[in-house]
Amino acid sequence: MQKDPVRSNEKSAQESLGLKLTRRSLLGAAPLTAAGLSLASLAGSLAEAQAAQDQREKPKVRAEEHKQPQLENFKYDLDASTGFSGDGGTAKEVTVAEFPVSGSIAGVSMILKPGAIRELHWHAVAAEWAFVIEGNVRTTVLGPNGEAAQDDFGPGDIWYFPKGHPHALQGLGPGDTHFILVFDDGHFSEFGTFSITDWFSQTPPEVLARNSGLSVRTVAGLPKGEVYITPGRVPPRIEPLRNGNPIPSQSPHKFRLLEREGSMWPGGEERVVDSHAFPISKTIAGAIMDLKPGALRELHWHPNADEWQYYISGRARVGIFGAHGRSKVEDFGPGQVAFIKQGFGHYIEQFGDEPTRILITFPAAEYQEISLSTWLANNPAELIEDNFGIGADEVARMPKSKLAIYGPHTQV
Ligand code: MN
Ligand code: MN
Repeated sequence: MQKDPVRSNEKSAQESLGLKLTRRSLLGAAPLTAAGLSLASLAGSLAEAQAAQDQREKPKVRAEEHKQPQLENFKYDLDASTGFSGDGGTAKEVTVAEFPVSGSIAGVSMILKPGAIRELHWHAVAAEWAFVIEGNVRTTVLGPNGEAAQDDFGPGDIWYFPKGHPHALQGLGPGDTHFILVFDDGHFSEFGTFSITDWFSQTPPEVLARNSGLSVRTVAGLPKGEVYITPGRVPPRIEPLRNGNPIPSQSPHKFRLLEREGSMWPGGEERVVDSHAFPISKTIAGAIMDLKPGALRELHWHPNADEWQYYISGRARVGIFGAHGRSKVEDFGPGQVAFIKQGFGHYIEQFGDEPTRILITFPAAEYQEISLSTWLANNPAELIEDNFGIGADEVARMPKSKLAIYGPHTQV
C-alpha cells in the first residue's frame, strides 16, 4: 500500500512567507519594492493569506471564546542537522533551542569510530538513556555508593545513567557505532556537559597537580578546553558467554531490549521497557516499534507522559490531535524526530515498501497508553450508537479488544 507522501498540513502562504501580513504592514512595505518585491505580488500574497485564514477560522465560532494557539511544529530532522564533528566521531543534538515543543526530552544522535572515546563526564540536570542502533560500545560508570560498572553494548541494547553519575563511552568496532541518547529534560544540551578536560582546564594547576598526583609540568600539557570526543585505542572485548547470553539484563545499567519478547500484532511488533523490567530507569520508558508495510498503529494517547520518537528505518505518517479543533500531520523517515505532547491523541500510518522501525521514549517511570479500540469496546453499544448517530449493526463491527497495530488488510 504505497502512499503518496503529500503533506496534508500545508502551511498557509502567510506562514511560509514568515511574515505577519497585515494591511498596516502592507502600507509600510514600499521599501520592499526596491528589493524586487512588487506591491501587486505582495497584495496578492496578502489576499491569499487572508482567504486561507478566513477559511481556517470559519468553523470555529464556538472556539472564539477559548481561543487556542495553533499546534506547534512536532517534526525535527535530527540527522540532517549540523553538530559536532571530530576525528573520533560526530554528535547531533535536538533540544528546546532547535525544537521548542520538546520541553521534556532532549536527544542526541552520536557516532563513534572504533576506539574513539566520548570523554569522562557527567550531567548535572539530566539522566541519560541510550539505544544502540549499530556497532558496539563500552561504558564505564560510577555510582555515589562507590559501585562501578563496565559494560559492553551491542545493537538493540539500552543503558541508563541517573543524573550526576559520571560515565564515559568508547566505540569498540568493528566499524562505526551509532546510538541515540535521550535525556529527561528538553533544556539539556549535550554540548554543555560537565566534561573532565573542561574542568581540569578551569582548575589552578597547583590544585590539580596536588589532587591528581601529576607534576605541574604534566598538568600544563593537558588539553586546554573540552575534548568531548577523542580518538582512542580499541580495548579487548569482554568475551560473550557460550549460551549467547539470553538474559535481558546483565547489569543494573544495561537492558537488552531487542532480546525481549515483544507484543505481536497483525501489523507489527512492539517491545516496551520501563522501570518494572529495568528498575534503574526511573525517569525514562522506551520502546522499539516495528511496523510492516501498510500497518496502522491505532489512535491512542499516553495519559502520563510526552512521547519522543526517532525513526531508525522506513517511513510513516503521524497525525496528532490537540483538542480545540486542532490537528497536524507530518511524514517521517530515517534520522527524523517526532514529539507528541502528553495526552495528545495520535496515530502512526506506515507507508513505503520497507518496514518501519521507530525508537520511542517517554519521560516516565511507567509506560501507559489508552487505545481507541479498547476505549470504544469498554462502552455500552447504545451509547456508542447515539454518540455517533449510527446503527447497532455498525457498532457491532467495531473491535471488542485492543488491536494496537493493524495489519495492512486487517478486517475487524
Ligand atoms: Mn553522557
Ligand atoms: Mn504513542
